[in-house]
Amino acid sequence: MTGHTDVVVIGGGQAGLAAGYHLRRQGLDFVVLDARATPGGAWQHTWDSLHLFSPAAFSSLPGRLMPTQPGEEYPDAGHVVAYLSDYEKRYELPVQRPVQVLGVHDDGRLLRVETDSGTWHARAVISATGTWWRPFLPAVPGRGDFAGRQLHTVSYRRPQDFAGRRVIVVGAATPARRSPPTSPTTPN
Ligand SMILES: Cc1cc2nc3c(=O)[nH]c(=O)nc-3n(C[C@H](O)[C@H](O)[C@H](O)COP(=O)(O)OP(=O)(O)OC[C@H]3O[C@@H](n4cnc5c(N)ncnc54)[C@H](O)[C@@H]3O)c2cc1C
Repeated sequence: MTGHTDVVVIGGGQAGLAAGYHLRRQGLDFVVLDARATPGGAWQHTWDSLHLFSPAAFSSLPGRLMPTQPGEEYPDAGHVVAYLSDYEKRYELPVQRPVQVLGVHDDGRLLRVETDSGTWHARAVISATGTWWRPFLPAVPGRGDFAGRQLHTVSYRRPQDFAGRRVIVVGAATPARRSPPTSPTTPN
């Protein structure tokens, strides 16, 4: 398939959907191409126990507050997936999936976006591809010699998988649940 549009958004996670919301408000023609078969971006692939680190009201995309999850001050990943699925339906965002973008080329007047199911030509391209799909494993000296199992958090699912083992977690960036900021984001 070949198509022409003002803007191609690569990635239909929360960043791609928020971009789509504003492109629609500007009256631009656009398409969102997402490699996953279903909505939700990275939130579909996280570990079982993951919850947002902020309450729902502080985790909203433009235009629509995230509803609270009954019984959970900090919504779980399934709630985020449901919210994102509802969001793209509600705003009728033109998300095509599964479509994997393979390359973006400058043809002079337009950008040519090659995908596994055709070519798009656009005046602009927004890359909203997230961080989940290319995890960074630092080059720690001796890592190649370590005989035990090594994994990145994108492959972690649950603690039971490590029962009886000695485990070292490298990195402690994402905080545990913490106090929310003083005021929620105001929807546009
Ligand atoms: C563990 C973890 C916890 C987090 N918790 C919070 C939180 O509590 N609150 C908060 O605000 N933020 C949180 N974040 C940060 C952020 O909200 C999430 O990372 C969020 O998923 C980022 O959205 P995104 O749209 O940028 O990327 P993603 O959700 O990763 O979406 C990117 C999309 O791009 C698609 N894609 C990638 N490459 C291609 C390609 N070549 N062609 C087509 N499609 C492609 C993918 O399939 C995917 O659907 C967290 C992040 C992590 C990693």
